[in-house]
Amino acid sequence: MEIREYSNASSGFFYKVKEILASKQTQYQKAELVETEFFGKALLLDGRTQVTERWEYRYHEPLVHPAVLIHPNPKRALLIGGGDGGTLREIQKYKSIESVDFAELDPEVVTFSKEYFPTIHQNAFSDKRVTFHIGDGREFVFNAAKNVSDNPKKDARSSANGYDIIIMDMTDPVGPACMLYTKEFFLAVKKLFKNKNAVFSMHGESPMAWPEAFACISATLSDVFAHVSTSTCYVPMYGALWSYKYASDSRVPVLQDSGLIQDRITERFDKPLTFVNKEMWPSLFANDPVIAEADSHPLRRIIRDSDPVFPGIFDAQ
Ligand code: SAM
Repeated sequence: MEIREYSNASSGFFYKVKEILASKQTQYQKAELVETEFFGKALLLDGRTQVTERWEYRYHEPLVHPAVLIHPNPKRALLIGGGDGGTLREIQKYKSIESVDFAELDPEVVTFSKEYFPTIHQNAFSDKRVTFHIGDGREFVFNAAKNVSDNPKKDARSSANGYDIIIMDMTDPVGPACMLYTKEFFLAVKKLFKNKNAVFSMHGESPMAWPEAFACISATLSDVFAHVSTSTCYVPMYGALWSYKYASDSRVPVLQDSGLIQDRITERFDKPLTFVNKEMWPSLFANDPVIAEADSHPLRRIIRDSDPVFPGIFDAQ
């Protein structure tokens, strides 16, 4: 058996499946766990590959580390989505991180991952610094932002309510994730910044496979945050050059020199990284011309709550 997955309306990739280990329609999405020949175990949600055992670090490390490494003293983190535990694992490597609020929609994804992906989560779910908030990540963020607005004296900037790091590890902007890519949502995320050093990171889709989505994510983030930078690398489990976005009101990862980054890696944790390091840093932030090409896509627009459907949307299977 093969999984054939579209990366856009007219091209895609495939991989062979040895065995279907589990398949379940959860309250929110269809979850499938398969054993593959090439990637080890893989998790698919609504027919889209989310994570595979092989080379998953090429997604999780660039999503997390540029955001956390450029922060001078990261303590409080919020993770939205990321039910497989890989992103949680990377955040927890930092000795300075005191707490992680984990806002994941689907408890069944966490249950699947606990059972089938011990190499990915590496017991991240049982770290004492993590507080689970099972439910819609958008609702979590809007409630927290409202709390800030209703209590101006308890503004996120001056209280323990704000976050130093907010990371979104989300499914593509379809189905239950659709409303977490809008300008209104990003404005609420920004309200949760503890201060000017705070950083928000998320994936930015593929500039090659789905340039319309890449351009719209860039446009929407840039309309909300003062600085937005992009990194890219090839992610085999998505069969494409992938991208990551780092948004803040003061920090620009690309401007930090790779020597400083290596010093921070050495200072801030004992566990080694596989992919993000002094040598890889310039390549992550290299100005690949495909970024400018995608960014100037004619269907680029700001995504709003009133019209959240991305141009070029396609069925994965
Ligand atoms: N790396 C993946 C990618 O880019 O395709 C994302 C992986 S992670 C498994 C995606 C997570 O987002 C899933 O656990 C899913 O349940 C979660 N998710 C989807 N919609 C959500 C929502 N509205 N609120 C919180 N989490 C959500």
